[in-house]
Amino acid sequence: MLAIICGHCGYVLYEGNELKTLTEVVREYANVCPKCKKALKPITQSVRILEGER
Ligand SMILES: [Zn+2]
Repeated sequence: MLAIICGHCGYVLYEGNELKTLTEVVREYANVCPKCKKALKPITQSVRILEGER
């Protein structure tokens, strides 16, 4: 179980078992969080990865 969430508002950008890179996921959202409209960068300060939560 892998989840990538917006570091600003906690919006779940990706959730699933497929291993994706931050760059891939962020690119799917055009580098902008659809909820808070803040810029997403493929660094841990702007997105968070949760693993093994379930
Ligand atoms: Zn956000």
